[in-house]
Amino acid sequence: MLISLSDSASPGIVMITDSVPKKKDELEEYKRSDALRSISLPDANEFFANVAQLEAALKAEDKRATQAAASAIAVSFAQHFQIAKPGVRVLGARPRKVSETSVTETFGDYDFDTALIRLWMRTGVIKKPTAFGTFLSTLCHELCHHLDVVHLELPNTFHTRGFYERAGLLYHHVRGTPVRPLVWSAYPGGRFTINWAKTMQNKGPR
Ligand SMILES: [Zn+2]
Repeated sequence: MLISLSDSASPGIVMITDSVPKKKDELEEYKRSDALRSISLPDANEFFANVAQLEAALKAEDKRATQAAASAIAVSFAQHFQIAKPGVRVLGARPRKVSETSVTETFGDYDFDTALIRLWMRTGVIKKPTAFGTFLSTLCHELCHHLDVVHLELPNTFHTRGFYERAGLLYHHVRGTPVRPLVWSAYPGGRFTINWAKTMQNKGPR
């Protein structure tokens, strides 16, 4: 099974938490994920060189170097949690799904069965390189899916507020940028959406 919601929490991209499940055990898992607002963070120094290499490789549109840097980040992440390293595959232009009302582009996904993360280097329409921040944030998002499944006993790895916050913490930590606490707005059906306007005003704790 693949998760391929846009899978990137970048400013401007609409992020909505998953529907609240009805089944008792899934609901219990969903609530646990929602309440878990932080994770143990690895030593950021282990990441900075690879993160810088990732930025340079994306700028140079070097797929092989992008894949190497993303894989190295996945290795450091897995070492910190003492879990199996997920595979990482970097691909070209993002797949698009077009319906009457929307166009969805897949930024990344995570395969539950093979623990493979796939990331796309180029946008789907005019095939521009994916912005570094978007790419790194997608990688962190997929790493958090892997962590949910293999380590946090969250086998459905729902997109909850807690999930997005864990992924956001990891992203800012490895990039060395200040965390912006996410501001949530209620969305019909007991769901939540990231309020980017308010989040971007949020400078976080000083
Ligand atoms: Zn996801």
